[in-house]
Amino acid sequence: MGIGDRFCRQGKAQLDAIVKAKESGIEIVPVWNKSHREHSIIGTVPADTRKEADEAVRDRGWSGAYYVDADHINLSNVDLFIDSSDFFTLDVADYIGQAPDAADLKAFAEKNRKYVGSLEIAGIDETINVSRQDVERIGGKFLLAVKEAGRIYRHIETAKGADSFITEVSMDESNEPQSPVEMLFILSAIADEGIPAQTIAPKFTGRFNKGVDYVGDVAQFAKEFSRDIAVINFAINEFSLPANLKLSIHSGSDKFSIYAAISRALQRFDAGVHLKTAGTTWLEELIGLATAGGQGLGIAKDVYACALTRYDELCKPYATVIDIDKARLPTPEAVDKWDGGAFASALRHDQSCAAYNLHFRQMLHLSYKSAAEMQGRFLDALEKYEDTIAPNVIANIYERHIRPVFGIVR
Ligand SMILES: [Zn+2]
Repeated sequence: MGIGDRFCRQGKAQLDAIVKAKESGIEIVPVWNKSHREHSIIGTVPADTRKEADEAVRDRGWSGAYYVDADHINLSNVDLFIDSSDFFTLDVADYIGQAPDAADLKAFAEKNRKYVGSLEIAGIDETINVSRQDVERIGGKFLLAVKEAGRIYRHIETAKGADSFITEVSMDESNEPQSPVEMLFILSAIADEGIPAQTIAPKFTGRFNKGVDYVGDVAQFAKEFSRDIAVINFAINEFSLPANLKLSIHSGSDKFSIYAAISRALQRFDAGVHLKTAGTTWLEELIGLATAGGQGLGIAKDVYACALTRYDELCKPYATVIDIDKARLPTPEAVDKWDGGAFASALRHDQSCAAYNLHFRQMLHLSYKSAAEMQGRFLDALEKYEDTIAPNVIANIYERHIRPVFGIVR
């Protein structure tokens, strides 16, 4: 489970949620993920994430595995993460759709010729029909991206040594979802490149907006998610990929309406999953600050007011993964009159609460730059109000994410 943490201050609370899951019989490996984009916006460095993870693990006496994920890296920034990370998410979405070398494409089509025709895959009821044109089209669209992943992988392997880190290949930040058949041939190409991928992040059908619920056809998602798992199981044997290869769901936090489908599929296939909860821990920090009242509430209100004045700037890096209706955002004057409870109710992701405002929540989700610029004022408050923040962080991860995704009923 990816527990990205903007400010690197909630490692212990996050780990507490994972410990609770363990006590309920669910084994989760915590992965502290943070992208170059987040580090640059906040002004942290990859070593800060490593420090947070190591400290949390030491403090809580966690004896299980844990990782630090260099999230969404590419060849231009991977070197910054080599020392502190042992999990690398190779983002090659920008290369999707770029034409590969003609000879490479021909070799790819030849190699996969045996899958042309009707294909039976365990776990998928219908026969899948694959034509030579399908293989060529998929190769034409994805081969260059996978080759780029191979270059990044080998760069890391040279620096760190093989088998000393986990590799994820991510294609989620692209425009179109990838179908299960595309996934099959992407995995074929990944195996050809010699990438021992343990997680793969496709773009799924529907919208995965930051910090809010899934928007899309839940039945269609459920069908594709199951098929993707079936394809992965097939590919593990067929292409000799790592046996624990699993799907990775990016922007996986708060997608409450698909968790039941995910849980059913995981149980049906006895499969694992990597769920990246993209930075919503920082919203729990804001909720904790607001409910603490006093200076804490003042900071939460200031973050919002400041963010509104920089709306375009803050939205820009997240334009494709937010849907904010500006008209539905409360004015800073209105928010200024709120008490801590009102602020928390508007922000906390409880869709049964009439005061919950998903536009307010999305706006704050991408406002962490405003908080980062407060520097000591914000960071000191995180420490001062730790007692009101930590229970929110733990409950968010455990109650709203781990329990529904992993089917923990009590
Ligand atoms: Zn992602």
